[in-house]
Amino acid sequence: MENKMIRELYARWRFNADLMTCNECGYSVIATRMHETAHHAAGCKHEGERNPWLQLAEILEALKVGAGETAKPAAWIRFCSDGGYEGPLADCDKRMDDARRKSGAWTPLFATHNAELRGRPLADGPA
Ligand SMILES: [Zn+2]
Repeated sequence: MENKMIRELYARWRFNADLMTCNECGYSVIATRMHETAHHAAGCKHEGERNPWLQLAEILEALKVGAGETAKPAAWIRFCSDGGYEGPLADCDKRMDDARRKSGAWTPLFATHNAELRGRPLADGPA
């Protein structure tokens, strides 16, 4: 399911380093502006597409949950357009309500990522 969604996304957007470029009108979205809405050229048939980075993030998130990761994040962070960020807010914090979780503006942080880093064999890295 997610593989098909990724193939379809890449049929509409060309991936080039930190840019995603619309195959139809050539509009590019840089990764650091993933929360902004895409501004396609007038008449572009992908005009209705919001940001491709967010679409990719959602597909990958679904894949990660499907792979057995816990679906419950430890905390949330919101990246701001000025390069700063808001939070992190613990998932149990009462300011982290469902409206924020579903807004797409907040990125979940998973405690399991840290556990994986700690468990990485030392032989893989420099001595
Ligand atoms: Zn376009």
